[in-house]
Amino acid sequence: MPTNGYKKPLPAPSPETKRYWEACKNHELWLPYCRACEKPYFYPRDFCPTCFSWDIEWRKMSGRGTIYTFGVHYRNWHPAWADEVPYVTALVQLEEGPRIYTNIVGIEGDPRHLRCDMPVEVVFDDVSDDISLPKFRPASDVGRGLQPR
Ligand SMILES: [Zn+2]
Repeated sequence: MPTNGYKKPLPAPSPETKRYWEACKNHELWLPYCRACEKPYFYPRDFCPTCFSWDIEWRKMSGRGTIYTFGVHYRNWHPAWADEVPYVTALVQLEEGPRIYTNIVGIEGDPRHLRCDMPVEVVFDDVSDDISLPKFRPASDVGRGLQPR
């Protein structure tokens, strides 16, 4: 898999997550949707984690959500992150319900600039020819003027 000089660990799509990563590569966020519960879920797997139904399909998500919780990382635990500290990881609550573990970008890694329930929207970081990572930035109506980094 060509990495284009990307130094961080890369996801290895499995049969259950292949559809998810293919959508990310197209800059779309798709999640499995349980027809029995009528809800999407994360992370992708072949059966619903709530009711264990195997009656699932894939649906495109809006890409909008809010920060459920976040952490600001001041130390890099892997050399590839040395130039990025402080950086922000977060659980983002998607508009459709599921929570996704991700990075918040386009905002200074400072708790004074972040808050729970802050509206965010997905952006895709093309880290290799095969992998685009879904990250989130402040929603365009609140983040105007901020430069993604
Ligand atoms: Zn279900």
